[in-house]
Amino acid sequence: MGNWTDTLKRFLNLFLKSHCPLCQRPAEGELCRYCHRQLQRCQLANPGQLWQYPMPVFVWGAYSGTLKRAIAAIKYENHPELARPLGHWLGDAWRNGKGAAGGNLTVVPIPLHAAKLKKRGFNLSPDLF
Ligand SMILES: [Zn+2]
Repeated sequence: MGNWTDTLKRFLNLFLKSHCPLCQRPAEGELCRYCHRQLQRCQLANPGQLWQYPMPVFVWGAYSGTLKRAIAAIKYENHPELARPLGHWLGDAWRNGKGAAGGNLTVVPIPLHAAKLKKRGFNLSPDLF
C-alpha cells in the first residue's frame, strides 16, 4: 500500500468507523473485540519460563494462531498500529512480575535490512527507543 493510499485511509477513518485489520469486522480501536480476545488468549501463563542461563528470554505469547497472524499483519500488511496493544501487554506482563524477578532488562532491536525497510516502509525497532 502506498503513502497516498495510507493517507487517504487515515483521513477516511476520521469519519468512518475503521475495520479490524485481522478480520475486517468493525473496530473501535486497533482491533475488533473478537480479535482482541483471541490475542489475549495467546498469552503464556508464565512468560518468564524461558528466563534461563545463558540466554534468558521473556516471551509474552506462543508464536501461532492469532498472534502469528497479528505479527504478520504488522510486518507484511502495513499495520504497525497492531504493535501498540502487543507492546502494552508485554510491558504489563513484565511489570506484573510474571517475568524474571529482579533481572535487568535489555531490549534488543532486531536489525532490518535496507531492502526490507524500503519495501515495508517502516521499522518498528527505532520506535522502541
Ligand atoms: Zn478482528
